[in-house]
Amino acid sequence: MSKQNNYDLVVVGAGLIGASVALLAAYKMPKCRVALIERSPRLSLQQHNNQRVVALGQLATGVLDTVGVFKDLQQNACFPYQRMFIWDQHSRGELEFSSNDVDLPQLGHMIDSVHCNYLLQRALEAHPQIDVVFDTRIGELENSENTLATVSTNKGCYSAPLIVAADGGQSSIRRLAKISTNQHSYEQIGIVAKIACSLPHQNTAWQRFLKDGPLGVLPLANNQCSIVWSCKQPYAQRLNVMSDKEFCLELAEALEHRLGEVSLVNPRQSFPLNSNNSARYFNQRIVLVGDAAHSIHPLAGQGANLGFKDAQCLVELLSQANEAQDDNLTKLLARYEYVRRSDNQVTDRAMTLLNSAFLQNNPVWSALRGLGMSWVSGSKALKTLLTQQAVGSDPR
Ligand SMILES: Cc1cc2nc3c(=O)[nH]c(=O)nc-3n(C[C@H](O)[C@H](O)[C@H](O)COP(=O)(O)OP(=O)(O)OC[C@H]3O[C@@H](n4cnc5c(N)ncnc54)[C@H](O)[C@@H]3O)c2cc1C
Repeated sequence: MSKQNNYDLVVVGAGLIGASVALLAAYKMPKCRVALIERSPRLSLQQHNNQRVVALGQLATGVLDTVGVFKDLQQNACFPYQRMFIWDQHSRGELEFSSNDVDLPQLGHMIDSVHCNYLLQRALEAHPQIDVVFDTRIGELENSENTLATVSTNKGCYSAPLIVAADGGQSSIRRLAKISTNQHSYEQIGIVAKIACSLPHQNTAWQRFLKDGPLGVLPLANNQCSIVWSCKQPYAQRLNVMSDKEFCLELAEALEHRLGEVSLVNPRQSFPLNSNNSARYFNQRIVLVGDAAHSIHPLAGQGANLGFKDAQCLVELLSQANEAQDDNLTKLLARYEYVRRSDNQVTDRAMTLLNSAFLQNNPVWSALRGLGMSWVSGSKALKTLLTQQAVGSDPR
């Protein structure tokens, strides 16, 4: 192996979650030297044509605040929302959640994920404890309990007592560390686009359960919205070959014209929707965070939120061990896996169940759904509990 660089922590992947792990570790542990290895070139806002908007709750925006990017984000690429409205095509069920239910100024923030990632990468490069290497190909991984873990790359070898895999759903580090994963395809495509609406969006996140899957409409500045339309493949193909005008008419109809006429601000993009659950979250000196550990259906906008929880939990445990001079890494990683895996799995199962329940279009299921939604709507305690979950105020 070529040139060897020793660090206290190596992170692979400078997406939202890997960047947050590196920055949190540097902020919490002033002596911790971190290397961050990223496959893609440094992000630039000029080439930015990814329209992914993520709805982030309190815990996630708290992490962004701790690492010093949230204020900048608030000025440029962030929109608070106060209300969530959910309704079903095949029943009369309706549900409304409001920030008033939990005494907060907002339920969460809609964040331009590329802009956020750009600010995080800028913060990484400015941090004296962090070395970032972009445009880097990883090769081999050495992983054993007795010596530092090492990842070789085309730019040298990077070693540390712990390597964090934050390299997304198709994680190479996970594969090299021989951690298996259960992949499940929802057999749905997510169509993402930015739209303008003729009626006010009322700072509301709209979600309609349609026969093919959920359609989410997330409010942005200037009465624009970001849509995530999850649908089965044949319908997605039909939507994708429609002209912009036909697509917008279909979309307005699917929303029962609650947002009036809609027009596309940016071209549509499509993603296959899969869930992915790693069998373990660590093996010896390799630990998984974010989509490398788990990815879920985007219907409740929880994927990145769970990743931020992973980042916060892992760094908290590392800094506690650092303060106590406890070098039992296996115990620490087992604790991390125990805490994060149960939370991530519960959310994954809930999303899978919700998606399947709303795909059942027979009259009995529709009636049950309608009853269930009315029941939740009528129970203040249950609504408050669900709103707290959606807001992300549960810091597990
Ligand atoms: C349609 C859709 C809508 C969504 N909406 C929401 C939402 O509203 N709210 C929410 O919380 N979540 C949402 N999500 C989920 C969210 O986008 C992801 O959970 C989140 O982006 C995962 O972040 P990550 O940093 O773990 O992984 P990624 O964003 O995949 O980042 C991985 C990084 O690792 C790098 N990388 C990959 N391989 C290598 C390698 N071999 N070497 C070095 N670097 C590598 C990549 O270039 C990238 O920078 C949505 C997802 C989809 C598909």
